Amino acid sequence: MQLRILGCSGGIGGDNRTTAMLLGDSVLLDAGTGVGDLGFDELVRIDEVFLTHAHLDHIACLPMLIDTVLGRRKTPITVHATQATIGILKQHVFNWLVWPDFTQIPTLENPMLRFEPMEVGEQRMVPGGTITALPALHTVPAVAYAIDSGAASVVFSGDTADCAELWQAINAIDNLKTLIIETAFADREESLAKLSRHFSPRLLIDALAQLDRPAKVELLITHLKPADHQLTMQQVLAAGHAYRIARLEQGQVLTF
Ligand SMILES: [Zn+2]
Ligand SMILES: [Zn+2]
Repeated sequence: MQLRILGCSGGIGGDNRTTAMLLGDSVLLDAGTGVGDLGFDELVRIDEVFLTHAHLDHIACLPMLIDTVLGRRKTPITVHATQATIGILKQHVFNWLVWPDFTQIPTLENPMLRFEPMEVGEQRMVPGGTITALPALHTVPAVAYAIDSGAASVVFSGDTADCAELWQAINAIDNLKTLIIETAFADREESLAKLSRHFSPRLLIDALAQLDRPAKVELLITHLKPADHQLTMQQVLAAGHAYRIARLEQGQVLTF
């Protein structure tokens, strides 16, 4: 499987794009502003979107994606998310006020958007492998995802603070190759990180003690806030020198 990083910043400006990853050419993980860099033909090929949570930086391009491909696609885009996340999107985004309800457009019988609930522990087949929802802990209902090609697995934390259930789930993945994990804030913003249920470098390195086989796992840091991105990454590398850590880069393609 190939996972192409369209966006992995915690903010916008310049080359920064917010969280979105393209798995193969038809599956999106989150739909942040990175989706906007895809060409029209690439957008039309997207069949499924797996959302970690409903925060804007992870869904910003979803409403416009659906509107853009309407008329070129014959089948709906399926959005996989927890029932809680789907409820938030229906109430606050696809409510005819912020954006039309594309589960009724162009017709109720043949809409362009279809929601499919997927709770923690559930698995879906995707081209080349499977995706499983794992627990996460954020200010709104959130999940992480494990993507398994059969040969290897990549886990994407989404937005999360320390979550014992997530580490248990990660440790149970025998073929885990890569863990994409967020570190939104620098250590000087630790209180803000705790309040907003994100990691800062010190909180992340403390939490990594729960990872069973650290030597086997490549850690890729995502969701750095632009204001402190270099400092945050320096602090992660300094505190986490015992681990295999690098920064996740926009444009990077993970093959597994
Ligand atoms: Zn969030
Ligand atoms: Zn976020």
